[in-house]
Amino acid sequence: PSEPKKEDLQQITELMDGFKASKALFTASKLCVFDLLQSRPGLDATQVAQEIKASLKGTECLLQACVSLGLLKSKERTCKKPVYENTDLATRFLVSGSPFALHGYIQHCNDIVWPLFSHLESAVREGTNQHEKAFGKKSKDIFQDTYYNSQEVKLRFMNAMHSIARVTGKAVASAFDLSSYKTACDLGGCTGAMAYEFTKAHPGLSVTVFDLPAVVEMSEHFQPLHTDNRVSFVAGDFFKDELPKADLYILARILHDWPDEKVHILLSKIADACTTGCGLLLSEIFLDEDRRGPSRGLLQALSMSEGKQRSATEYSLLLKSHGFITAHVTHTDNLLDAMLCIKV
Ligand code: SAM
Repeated sequence: PSEPKKEDLQQITELMDGFKASKALFTASKLCVFDLLQSRPGLDATQVAQEIKASLKGTECLLQACVSLGLLKSKERTCKKPVYENTDLATRFLVSGSPFALHGYIQHCNDIVWPLFSHLESAVREGTNQHEKAFGKKSKDIFQDTYYNSQEVKLRFMNAMHSIARVTGKAVASAFDLSSYKTACDLGGCTGAMAYEFTKAHPGLSVTVFDLPAVVEMSEHFQPLHTDNRVSFVAGDFFKDELPKADLYILARILHDWPDEKVHILLSKIADACTTGCGLLLSEIFLDEDRRGPSRGLLQALSMSEGKQRSATEYSLLLKSHGFITAHVTHTDNLLDAMLCIKV
């Protein structure tokens, strides 16, 4: 056989080492390395180790690994230890105060997704989620049984949703001309981060965030400094309770959590609340029609509980069976795609 090609070796090594890179990022983030170097750029490994209360050896390895991953920059100094500072990427996404901070989502990946992935082999063999193995308890409804069982886990989950919604919100909110709608209801709108992006992008629109009581009671915790009186919160269960009236319903990262039977229950409730001409804006990762990508969606599906990832056509068909015609589909350059459907 011919010698392996450099690009092939690189591709296979990156795949084998991907989990190490993720865990180095999660650990540096959890130990607040990026926050520390943002407020005090130019510390050396000894100083960082002292501040994060970690060993010098471990801290040196972590800092060097982060440099190799493009998260930190190091400056060599003659006869002295190198000093470290954040790269632009880290400043943008890893510093907790930044508008696009992914700190919350990274913590969720570390504390929830990582343990689930460590049981991937069983998940594949059994075709079920591995919550019980990973966390020692059964989870029928992942939100009510796992995420909202303790205040700490709930806040961590809400922080994770909040951080992704802040990164993706503007792209989703401005994907379509929504000027004909006056009232929107963001079903499962969590902290309201997405709703605020919708009111920012559409000055004539008011948004009601509808989510479970456990979530809505925390909404003030996430309120941005400039509160917007066009965003309001209503508590309820979207499978059981009456939905707020609106002429546009938003479903962002909701349907992927549920199997078709549950999706049908929710969509039929929305269809009942809609009059002709009402809109439904769906935002998800849309799988390629041939299901060869994007791997972000396909990898997420591996750790999912009841739900599944779908293509734009699959979503369109589900919506069509409840009287919604797909008007536009957009693949944004951001993490989520979007689809606008109209009730006929
Ligand atoms: N839409 C938000 C976003 O894109 O950032 C959050 C998406 S998160 C994956 C799913 C949301 O659905 C959570 O906020 C959760 O509390 C909410 N949810 C789950 N089950 C629900 C139910 N039965 N009734 C109302 N909301 C529910």
